[in-house]
Amino acid sequence: MAEKTKIWWTNSTFNPWMGCTAVSPGCAKCYAERQNRFFRWVPDGWGPGKQRRRTTGAYWKQARTWDRKAAETGERPRVFCGSLMDWLDPEVPPQWRRDLLDLVGETPHLVWQKLTKRPELWRRLVGEAADQGSAFAARWLDGQAPPNVWVGATVEDQRRAVERIPQLLEIPAETRFLSVEPLLEPVAPDLRGIDLVICGGESGGGARPCDIAWIRDLRDRCRDAGVPFFMKQCGRRPMENGRPLEMKHDHGGDWDEWPADLRVRELPNAVNQVEVA
Ligand code: SF4
Repeated sequence: MAEKTKIWWTNSTFNPWMGCTAVSPGCAKCYAERQNRFFRWVPDGWGPGKQRRRTTGAYWKQARTWDRKAAETGERPRVFCGSLMDWLDPEVPPQWRRDLLDLVGETPHLVWQKLTKRPELWRRLVGEAADQGSAFAARWLDGQAPPNVWVGATVEDQRRAVERIPQLLEIPAETRFLSVEPLLEPVAPDLRGIDLVICGGESGGGARPCDIAWIRDLRDRCRDAGVPFFMKQCGRRPMENGRPLEMKHDHGGDWDEWPADLRVRELPNAVNQVEVA
């Protein structure tokens, strides 16, 4: 069994572009937007009508390098797409998404973890990429789930669970996951058709509190439904019984500081390992 502190839900992050527009309460403290104020990757910042910035060709080539290495070693690294954007952002030029989908199709040894807060746009935007000539997009639209893609939706509150899970289920996929982060209130998702739940409290300055009882309740729901549960972090303001839970790690990401029963990091289909305290 691998060391538990090394277990992570993804192996690499890939941002085909940067920039986005807030869509729901989970975006209110968007970490990427706040980082951008400092790093100025996207000079105009986040928001509707603001220009997104595509990452460089050299950066895109990295994914092909990862794929080649994976082909040689026989491993299947997981690539999270992405941390500074939403792949179903309707404001990027359609050509960018077409290029991204083609890249996914041309890197079959990688497992692409495609998370969105806009699952309702999948049909329209993947259709747009198909219209642009992407054979990969056309096959997906036709109902063929790409074997190297996990699709996920963010579900930060109960309303988003009710709205987005049915939309996620409409996307052809071999693996579907929920990112329940930032967990803003108790969430009771319908877990039928879901293969993984990732949970986390909010990080960064001004983070909203996350009650440990909400996390426990979600973990128990996953257990009852037989769905792997991956505890990512407690967030910057974990609470227990109405009081702050002191943690030294600035976003509650140190497993050793968590209540023992929260040290649960499971992944679907025996990917890597299952570690339950
Ligand atoms: S969807 Fe993600 S990247 Fe876009 S504003 Fe919301 S939190 Fe930020």
